Amino acid sequence: MEMRAASGPELYRARGWWRAELLDDLVLRHAAGGPAAADRPAVAGPRPLTHRELAGAVDAASRRLAGLGVRAPGPVLVQLPNSVEFLVLTLALIRAGCPPILAHPALCEHELEPVVADLAPVAAAVPAATGRTDHPAMLRGLLRHGPAPRAVLVLGPGAPGPDGADLAALCAPGTAPGPRPHTADPGDTALYFLSSGTTGPPKPIPRTHEALGSVVRASAVAAGLGPDSVYLAALPATHSFTCAHPGMFGALARGGSVAFAGTADADALLELAGLHRVTHTALVPGLAGQLASRAADSGAAPWSLRVVQVGGARLAPDTARRIRAELGCRVQQVYGMSEGLLTFTRLDDPEAVTDLTQGRPVAPGDELLVVGADGRPVAPGEQGELWTRGPSTITAYAGRAAGEPGRFGPEGHYRTGDLVRVDPAGNVAVTGRVKDVINRGGEKVAADDLEAVLTRHPGVRAAAAVGFPHPLYGEGVCAVVVPGGGPADAAGRLTLRGLRAFLREEGVASFKLPDRVVVLDALPTVGIGKVDKEALRRLAADRAAGPVPSV
Ligand code: AMP
Repeated sequence: MEMRAASGPELYRARGWWRAELLDDLVLRHAAGGPAAADRPAVAGPRPLTHRELAGAVDAASRRLAGLGVRAPGPVLVQLPNSVEFLVLTLALIRAGCPPILAHPALCEHELEPVVADLAPVAAAVPAATGRTDHPAMLRGLLRHGPAPRAVLVLGPGAPGPDGADLAALCAPGTAPGPRPHTADPGDTALYFLSSGTTGPPKPIPRTHEALGSVVRASAVAAGLGPDSVYLAALPATHSFTCAHPGMFGALARGGSVAFAGTADADALLELAGLHRVTHTALVPGLAGQLASRAADSGAAPWSLRVVQVGGARLAPDTARRIRAELGCRVQQVYGMSEGLLTFTRLDDPEAVTDLTQGRPVAPGDELLVVGADGRPVAPGEQGELWTRGPSTITAYAGRAAGEPGRFGPEGHYRTGDLVRVDPAGNVAVTGRVKDVINRGGEKVAADDLEAVLTRHPGVRAAAAVGFPHPLYGEGVCAVVVPGGGPADAAGRLTLRGLRAFLREEGVASFKLPDRVVVLDALPTVGIGKVDKEALRRLAADRAAGPVPSV
């Protein structure tokens, strides 16, 4: 099945899909409009800002960064919780020509070390130390061999340290507007997302002003965002879904406003949605289902909600129906990836489409190619791996992954690793995946990456990671380990608690820690000795028939 359009940056510009507009100007465009637009709310919450005030804060922060020695083209790692500071700093860095590298708050040394080695950030923005994680110390350690100035910008209580700066002060409202600190080209990298990693550690995804701008514009229209919209950033704002697909950037670009959730707790989200009269939000299926259940239990849905976007993992049709019924809103299914492609069901689609498919590309010009195992297009309607290219999607990763073979097809298509069918109307339905990834409630765990760390355990001779059906996350992480190769007492620690503690010490992000452990004498193999993951998935699912253990 093949749907083709022409390809290439010149065509994208000629068609107007890519425009000569910088991303920060697109997001902050309403600040430059008349008072009716500029004085509308842009940020809801304890420190509300209008579009004009937000632009002023971004402008001031972009110049204060230079005062700290943070200047173009040095990238800056941003690992902040959802907050107004995240929004102001991210836009200020884009404006300053210092592309923010947006890192999920749960990532630790294991994931961030290769990213730092790849992109050599000159600074990092992190929350203050908590009892659980000392982010400033972790980033100081990671940046120590990197280029100057190595500033650590800290959000929250406590002294920022000799090399640090207080983020709240950096992002404080500005006074007089000043000149743009950096002149960018629309083809320059505006920011980096991090791939959720189909293999190995996260790969930097460079997004240019013009390419990401086109996704923001098109997806914001398809989500029905407008000046009256209030978007609740519920999932981590560092993820493309919440940030720019259309997320916060889309809401602001359409003249609407943004509210921030500090936690992904269903009750807290319902309360915030009611408080700020939220109209739009984006959730993973598990969380969306929880919101529906909590609203049903309490009998109090936030009736302002118009659109709940659900994506990141498979949404069951029954959950789609419950969300609609209990939250009184439309459900918009979203499929896509930080690498670029986005498909949405449309707000006026019939329920057969919104409940059973993930919709059609939002941006014009995006090509979908569904291929069989031989890399050739399958017949229309048949299942195959989705390959895509077009104005939304990158043509290469940054850093070491730029030269890695295998992620792109011979004609430049990004190989998604997802199995899909495309119906005659062009709607994509995700049916499975060919990549060896566990999708734990929308957070992706690359099996090979986790396996490599597990085999560093002194009591583990061999290890495999597979998914199993999980009541909350859809899929849980099961570590299958074969003891041996080390001191006898090490093998005795191959319990769930023991392995989780080990992985934490190895600096692995919390969402990758196993939910279940299976100990075997040997890993089953097929063919020439490849680990039989299918057999292990069946085993993990059988063992998972009982309750998921609490750790
Ligand atoms: P990320 O780059 O973190 O957004 O992850 C992208 C991957 O998430 C896709 O390649 C899919 O494997 C998965 N994904 C995203 N949306 C959906 C969806 N609606 N249904 C099933 N899988 C999805």
